[in-house]
Amino acid sequence: MSTEEFLQANEQYAANFNKPDRSLFKNMIIVTCMDPRLNPYEQLGLKFGEAIHIRNAGGSAKEALRSIMVAQHFIGVNGTISIFHHKDCGMSRVTTSQMRDLVKKATPGRDDVAAEVDTIDFHHIVHIEGSVKADVKFLTESPLVLKGTKITGWVYDVDTGKISKVDEAIAVGA
Ligand SMILES: [Zn+2]
Repeated sequence: MSTEEFLQANEQYAANFNKPDRSLFKNMIIVTCMDPRLNPYEQLGLKFGEAIHIRNAGGSAKEALRSIMVAQHFIGVNGTISIFHHKDCGMSRVTTSQMRDLVKKATPGRDDVAAEVDTIDFHHIVHIEGSVKADVKFLTESPLVLKGTKITGWVYDVDTGKISKVDEAIAVGA
């Protein structure tokens, strides 16, 4: 998409814009991968404005924690946090050490880059159900998540469009 295409598409969008009513918000947080095949609004029957949607590579709960804290402690969301990982995820095909090597190869001789990227855990997914359960456990046990928050863990199948629930727990909080 060129700048011009963005501007043209947005002009049409804004011409028919329906500002979402704040009352639509269903007090929930969804965490998914950034994979373009994922559209949780469509896949979960949600409307624009009904959920807070956090995206990152793999749908990592650890990486989403900063946004979850803002949603809970600043915005006041206390509803369910649903974690979705998906089949055929890129994060199941690249390990943390491979990711670090890719970044280092792109910046040869830069010790500062190497040192910084070596501190980053890219949250490689070894086993999808296992990674969902580990993320549910992480949020359940995190002292930074509100006590009593319901956490659910799901797998989305990119081949069938179907979701399956693999875990559910209540956060123990601080
Ligand atoms: Zn993915």
